Amino acid sequence: MALEAPPALGTRMLPADTFKGRTVYVTGGGTGLGKAMAIEFARAGANVAIASRDADHRAKGVEAIEALGARAVGTAVDVRSPESIVKSFNEVEDALGGSISILINNAAGNFAAPAERMSANAWNAVINIVLNGTFYCSSEFARRLIDRKEGGAILNIGATYSWTGGPVAAHSAAAKAGVTNLTQTLAVEWAPDNIRVNCLAPGLFPAKDRSEQIMSMKGGEARGGETIPAGRVGEAHELGWAATYMCSPFAAYLTGHTLVLDGANWLRRYGFGMPEFEVVRDRFDRLRAEAAAQEKAGE
Ligand code: NAP
Repeated sequence: MALEAPPALGTRMLPADTFKGRTVYVTGGGTGLGKAMAIEFARAGANVAIASRDADHRAKGVEAIEALGARAVGTAVDVRSPESIVKSFNEVEDALGGSISILINNAAGNFAAPAERMSANAWNAVINIVLNGTFYCSSEFARRLIDRKEGGAILNIGATYSWTGGPVAAHSAAAKAGVTNLTQTLAVEWAPDNIRVNCLAPGLFPAKDRSEQIMSMKGGEARGGETIPAGRVGEAHELGWAATYMCSPFAAYLTGHTLVLDGANWLRRYGFGMPEFEVVRDRFDRLRAEAAAQEKAGE
């Protein structure tokens, strides 16, 4: 037995005009989970801006939205740069008209490394995208809406190692913890301006079209449903439904909240039956060596 599968991809959850006339800006919206969320916003009536660095990624996101008959624009942005964000927001407002009223801070970078082997550059690379990028995009978004006396919603994409720490992902875990915390601060500061700020923490969602960088994280991913209490991994469109709900008028009183969507995985404990602990760097090296041997055997 397992938790039941969700309704099929394409099933409508929210009314088709929920986000009519609204623009949603999705960082990293051309691949993986960002793209899956962008698609559900489009299905519920939004105009969508696919914002990322790589033109091929953006083109794939735009193509997926347009295939649904919705309006989409691709916009180059590097979320590490406030100037690039201002330029991109202007571009999107010019192309789609009106303000960006929903921001999905989904862009991220990650790679596995034991902490003592993590260079300052490696640390900063992830912190700059995940934590600083989320703040830069959010503050620019809010400044515009506050000036114009318009409301809006921000959804940050978190991770459950915000609370547990993340061995071999110290940079990403610390950045995501910062994002979860920032969600709470900004929710309080901007509620009087009718801007809601929430966070969605996915468990294991092995979407096939994630970026090559993430797909190349050998040993960084659990095997699949057999490792999760739910008995299955998440389907990307389930995450899309949660995202659209959290940014919709149906969630008008929801702010400062982090929703975990992970089949109870982060709560899993075995009491006295915990598996033997393996030194993190030893486990990292062992998994890498096993993956390399498997790859060689398959050649
Ligand atoms: P992904 O395909 O690698 O998505 C990351 C996206 O971020 C890419 O589209 C990338 O596009 C964009 N990006 C990276 N650096 C950027 C920058 N400096 N400026 C603008 N965009 C940038 O991986 P994913 O699995 O879909 O992850 C999406 C989100 O879910 C992330 O926040 C991740 O931490 C979170 N998450 C995923 C899982 C999972 O199981 N998949 C679990 C927990 C949390 P460009 O290369 O085109 O810039």
